[in-house]
Amino acid sequence: MAALKSRWQNYIDGGWIDGGAGWLEVINPGTGEKLADQALADAGDVDRAVRAAKRVHDSGALTAMRPVERGRMVQAMGLYLLDNIEEIARLLTLEQGKPLHEARGEITGAARYFEYYGNQAETLEGRSIPLGAGYFDFTENEPYGVSAQIIPWNFPVEIAARSLSAGLATGNAVVIKTSEMTPLSSAWLARAAEVVGLPKGAVNILTGLGSEAGAALASHPEVGQIVFTGSVATGIAIAKAAAANVVPCVLELGGKSAAIVHQDADLQAFEAEIKRGIFTNAGQVCSAMSRVIVHESRHDELLERAASVARSLSVGPGIDRAEAGLNMGAMASEAQRDRAADMVRAAEQAGARVITGGRRMNIPGAFLEPTVIADVTPDMPIAQDEVFGPVLSVLKFTHEEESIKIANGTEYGLVAGVFTRDLNRATRAARQLKAGQVFVNQWFAGGVETPFGGYGKSGYGREKGREALWNYVQTKNVAIRLE
Ligand code: NAD
Repeated sequence: MAALKSRWQNYIDGGWIDGGAGWLEVINPGTGEKLADQALADAGDVDRAVRAAKRVHDSGALTAMRPVERGRMVQAMGLYLLDNIEEIARLLTLEQGKPLHEARGEITGAARYFEYYGNQAETLEGRSIPLGAGYFDFTENEPYGVSAQIIPWNFPVEIAARSLSAGLATGNAVVIKTSEMTPLSSAWLARAAEVVGLPKGAVNILTGLGSEAGAALASHPEVGQIVFTGSVATGIAIAKAAAANVVPCVLELGGKSAAIVHQDADLQAFEAEIKRGIFTNAGQVCSAMSRVIVHESRHDELLERAASVARSLSVGPGIDRAEAGLNMGAMASEAQRDRAADMVRAAEQAGARVITGGRRMNIPGAFLEPTVIADVTPDMPIAQDEVFGPVLSVLKFTHEEESIKIANGTEYGLVAGVFTRDLNRATRAARQLKAGQVFVNQWFAGGVETPFGGYGKSGYGREKGREALWNYVQTKNVAIRLE
């Protein structure tokens, strides 16, 4: 495997360039050591990238071809990622902290988006609307032109692939702003665009500070549509910037998602849901199972099982964790780790009981012990605010209605889950839960094919599934008066 490059650039208009905002050190959160330097784009670089994308759009290079050809290019990008999966996964683990096997899973997931949306390119059909003998009327779906995509650090390759594949499949040119914490692995997306023969400027990938490059991209007057994944505060800033230019945006924000566990649930099987739901990516998953609301009759047993899952995890540098199993890597940065640890402390002071974990680990890097907290009540900040770390809050309920009320009692609404053998109870809950996606008896059930997005402050618009395609196109109606 090639040695890691020490200086990384931005990909604008088919060329690799430094940036106007200097250089930033990228830290390996698994060791706390510097990994590489990343060139930072400024507003001028963003402007060049958007203009390049606009030029490609205006040239018709992406829209004139038959959609199946565009779709094949999109699919080929995914195959290129799979051809290089080991190298990309290693890089992703080094810059983000997740176990190597999870990084491989992320690259496979990213490739799956290119496969799925590449396939969808030729399925985006309009319709004809009958207006009587004197007219022929039809609709077409036209791309917005330049799609601006602002990406977070928790799944930097997969989330970028999600928006990029759908944006390209629908015929948009794209400008991606990666997170300043995890800029390196996205270089492979630029290489993929190059290898499959997309025109220069069709895909631009830059890194810069959110307040500078991110804000410049969100407010650029030539951007036709924005997709943002990240925090609520930034989402609001981006929605305001989009409103000022009267362009649509999709917001995929955070969550405080709850699993309701009924008295008839299979708690042994639920242990695997705990491992995947809250300890995958050290809990830095917007749809993490950060709350469990369990029937009082099973509370103590569930708590014991959750604590034993947490204690069984081998925690350490992701690069040493190549095989799937009971392990967990670093958080993405020491700042994120400290924030999560402070929230656990505050929960304790508010009367919650830390059953296991909660402390920074005494090794270099951004490690937090896998944590389970009991005696959490719905009004506590730990039950309301997103921790974005490996921290599970356990709450109790007595009656079914109470479980729904607690689950719905935050400002978020990304996903929710119900664990029961009673189909009627599960269906009732699915209808009452205020969330964009409800899992029954398996957390993270679904896939690239199933629409994903939030209610409430978890955002609006949907990514994944066919629904996402409509984010990237606008409807044109053509009415022809016949003689
Ligand atoms: P963040 O909002 O701080 O940053 C996300 C991106 O926005 C980064 O690229 C950042 O540089 C950029 N940014 C920051 N300020 C900006 C501004 N003023 N204008 C334009 N861009 C700006 O979020 P984060 O800390 O990277 O990610 C963690 C948060 O994201 C969590 O709350 C998590 O739940 C959420 N998230 C949601 C999803 C989802 O699909 N719903 C997925 C991943 C993460």
